[in-house]
Amino acid sequence: MPFSRLGLSDPIVRAVAELGYTEPTPIQLQAIPAVLSGGDLLAGAQTGTGKTAGFTLPILQRLSTTAPAQPNARPGIRALILTPTRELAAQVEENVRDYSRHLKLTSMVMFGGVGMNPQVDRLKKRVDILVACPGRLLDHLSQGTMDLNSVEILVLDEADRMLDMGFVHDIKKVLAKLPPKRQNLLFSATFSDEIRALADRLLDHPALIEVAPRNATADRVRQQVYRVDRERKRDLLSHLIQEHNWQQVLVFTRTKHGANRLAEKLEKDGIPSAAIHGNKSQSARTKALAGFKSGELQVLVATDIAARGIDISELPHVVNFELPNVPEDYVHRIGRTGRAGAEGEAISLVCVDENKLLVDIEKLIRRPLPSSQVPGFEVDPRIQAEPIPNGRNAPRGGGGGGGRSGGGQPRSGGGQGSHHGGPGAPRAPSATPRPAGQGQARTPKKPTSRHH
Ligand code: AMP
Repeated sequence: MPFSRLGLSDPIVRAVAELGYTEPTPIQLQAIPAVLSGGDLLAGAQTGTGKTAGFTLPILQRLSTTAPAQPNARPGIRALILTPTRELAAQVEENVRDYSRHLKLTSMVMFGGVGMNPQVDRLKKRVDILVACPGRLLDHLSQGTMDLNSVEILVLDEADRMLDMGFVHDIKKVLAKLPPKRQNLLFSATFSDEIRALADRLLDHPALIEVAPRNATADRVRQQVYRVDRERKRDLLSHLIQEHNWQQVLVFTRTKHGANRLAEKLEKDGIPSAAIHGNKSQSARTKALAGFKSGELQVLVATDIAARGIDISELPHVVNFELPNVPEDYVHRIGRTGRAGAEGEAISLVCVDENKLLVDIEKLIRRPLPSSQVPGFEVDPRIQAEPIPNGRNAPRGGGGGGGRSGGGQPRSGGGQGSHHGGPGAPRAPSATPRPAGQGQARTPKKPTSRHH
């Protein structure tokens, strides 16, 4: 099914063709007709599925073919896309610009950590589509430098991440500033109770669509665990990179400090590396990302939150220097490799502290991961497990038994984590679903019950 058959106009079809998209991805096939129909949408999809075009293309179609709802003297913002991170905001707005290159619509990106004044100046001109992080948006709203009275379409992108990052109150404040009559689109990779509560509050008889995370268990991603002692992980990683001459390695660490220390160690070993996380300035992050994409940097070390929304895909190697506290993050991480038919490899360096995290991941992906040791880096059986700070290397709930004491299940990341309550498999909220436009959408699967 080509893009032109989905009800998109020629300038939009031309733009995606110029970007080399030959056919819609599964989420696009479902989301585009649903959004064009004008109703609300709840979509389970994560980065890498093509979700951004899934909501942007039909928004462009709607905005370019209808007059503003409130034809003011000065046209206001017609579509608002909220994202959790600056990187994602920048990337989404770049996509909006790419897809609207043959249209007369204008867009703007807005996030904190940079000066307000250039944004205030930009807001004086026409902005049809605003891509924003909630905090800075509220700053502008409270200073009266903009309003949201003309918004016709609201998108919450990566809503689960926004809640994880503590944005729930900010989101509610933004919602209160929007006109009541509007189209709402909520995208989330996972469906916790919190997300379902938000969906119930926000969405009116939403169409429900869900796509499987790409590569979640894709055969073309070779997954491998190397058992190693925690103190020897850095040396092992250097060894693996040099021994196999890996280029373009994305390495995930659990903490910002750990990311810095690792990048410094790799640099010392002669492997060009940089760390990217929330404490880095925007310009440092942009520079690191550009260096990594161009091949100047061999290794990019990232925390989960910083890596969200970074448009780097089809990587040959993803390394979990530490396993994530939340098993769904493992799937997000390895989804960076092996895209679009390319072969990929996801390596996890696992020490004795992380046994429980590994079991949780294997339960989620429903298969054991092959595990071995690298000669010269064999584990010392005398080393005992230590609780992972903020981790959950102890069994959850009452049922497990026989576990070490550990830290419950809060997320780490950004230092402002909140509970990530639900299972990975998207669940429908209790809002009554309505059939999506043109029968393309389908209802998410029943929750799979997983016991931790
Ligand atoms: P997203 O999930 O929105 O972050 O998109 C992931 C990547 O897929 C981005 O680099 C997009 O440019 C790319 N992409 C989106 N839709 C398509 C498509 N239909 N064909 C090929 N690439 C696509």
